Amino acid sequence: YDKQLTDIHDGLRNTLTILHYKLRKANIEVVQEFDTTLPPIRALIGELNQVWTNIIDNAIDAMEVNKKGKLEIKTERDRDCLKVIIKDNGPGIPENILTRIYDPFFTTKEPGKGTGLGLDIVSQIVRQHKGYLKAESKPGETKFIISLPING
Ligand code: ADP
Ligand code: MG
Repeated sequence: YDKQLTDIHDGLRNTLTILHYKLRKANIEVVQEFDTTLPPIRALIGELNQVWTNIIDNAIDAMEVNKKGKLEIKTERDRDCLKVIIKDNGPGIPENILTRIYDPFFTTKEPGKGTGLGLDIVSQIVRQHKGYLKAESKPGETKFIISLPING
C-alpha cells in the first residue's frame, strides 16, 4: 500500500481494456485525448484504477444502448496538477441531486443495480491523493473532472 510513480495514462488505458466488452455491448464510442507529455505522478495505482473504473462504469450506465453513446477522456496539465476529464453524452445529472451523488448509498439505480458507493469511494481516493474532484452536468452531458497533484 505504497505510492508509486505512475503514468496515469497506463491506468486509464488498462481500465478501458477491462471495460472494452461492456463499452462495445453498449455501443459506446471512446475518444481519447491524452497529453502524453504529462509527467508521472506518485499514486496508489490500484486505487486510481478504481477511480477510473467507477466513473466510467457510471458513464456507461448513463448512456443508452440505442443512442450513439460517446465517452471522451481527456488529460491535460493544470499548473501543478494533472487533470483528467471524463465526459459522457448520457442524460446528465439533475441539478437537485448533483451535490448528493457522492453520498454513501445514494443511487438512482434500480435495486440490485447500484450500491451507491462508487462515487463515495472515488471521493475518498481522490482525497487520499490530495486531489480535487468535480462533476459538471447539463442535459445531455456529464463531465467528471479529477485533478491530481503532480508532486503528491
Ligand atoms: P451507483 O452507480 O451504485 O448508483 P455511484 O456512487 O457510482 O452509485 O453513483 C451515484 C449516482 O450518481 C448514480 O446512481 C447516478 O444517479 C449518478 N451518476 C453518476 N455518474 C453519472 C453519469 N455519468 N450520468 C448520470 N448520472 C450519474
Ligand atoms: Mg456507480
